[in-house]
Amino acid sequence: MSDFADMHIHTTASDGSESPKKVVQLAKKAGLYGIAITDHDTIDGVQEAMDEGEKLSIKVLAGIEISLDFVRNTHLLGYFPNGYTERFRKSIKELKSYREDRAPIILDKLKKLNCPIDIEELKRESGDGVIGRPHIARVMVNKGYAKSIQDAFDRYLTSGAPAYVDKKRFKPQKAIELIVKNNGIPVLAHPITIGLETVKLFEQIHLWKEAGLMGIEVMYSTYTKEQHKLIDKLAEKENLLKTGGSDFHGTNKPKIKLGIGLGQLQIPKEYFDSIFDIKI
Ligand code: AMP
Ligand code: FE
Ligand code: FE
Ligand code: ZN
Repeated sequence: MSDFADMHIHTTASDGSESPKKVVQLAKKAGLYGIAITDHDTIDGVQEAMDEGEKLSIKVLAGIEISLDFVRNTHLLGYFPNGYTERFRKSIKELKSYREDRAPIILDKLKKLNCPIDIEELKRESGDGVIGRPHIARVMVNKGYAKSIQDAFDRYLTSGAPAYVDKKRFKPQKAIELIVKNNGIPVLAHPITIGLETVKLFEQIHLWKEAGLMGIEVMYSTYTKEQHKLIDKLAEKENLLKTGGSDFHGTNKPKIKLGIGLGQLQIPKEYFDSIFDIKI
């Protein structure tokens, strides 16, 4: 077993290509110390991952990644070292329904753009998981409407493109409170990708800390060394927990590998353990 963890992973419960069970098997093969499952707006994959973790003796931490109503790409990770509360399970059903409401609106736009897709076709692609744009992109590729997932996003699905539809989201404050009230630990995901300039980012994170934020993702696949240093410094300045993750999506983000990201990630197991050490 290595001394490294991966605290940001997607499965087929959201927009990853690998099942929760398979993700745990891959983590075992990679010799990881522990992993967190952090699917978008759902916790449906976690039990399966925990069962497999038990079998293979690899630690699995219950998580989630919630998209926030803030500037684009602002995501909040929630970690639940003692598992999810029943109240939390109920609250996030709302997020799933936001997505279910959005999918037919996107399909309607695509139809007008000469890319008809049946909702049943889409549901076959997303399986039991929450529907995300990557599922739509994949169907578009399969039907020959786009050359690749990236092409489908660029020409149709990305923000500002003709079939883009935003989904309803929780306000940052509401999402932080929801996690804290349910014995979870709220952590800001990939702060660099929010796109704020440094001073604004530091100010904003300070405000969120006052609202209950407990950690930030200091290690992430796409960070440069300088960006890692910057966020690391911010974590120390604000006395926030440090976490790190690859944001693995399987073949839906083929360059990103479990544990190592683009090849350079080494997330200390102490980051993983620190989640379990907090008194909540
Ligand atoms: P959704 O949550 O349905 O809005 O979809 C967001 C997900 O789509 C992200 O987590 C990524 O996995 C993927 N995604 C977003 N933008 C792009 C893009 N420009 N190219 C490829 N994948 C993207
Ligand atoms: Fe994703
Ligand atoms: Fe994210
Ligand atoms: Zn993610």
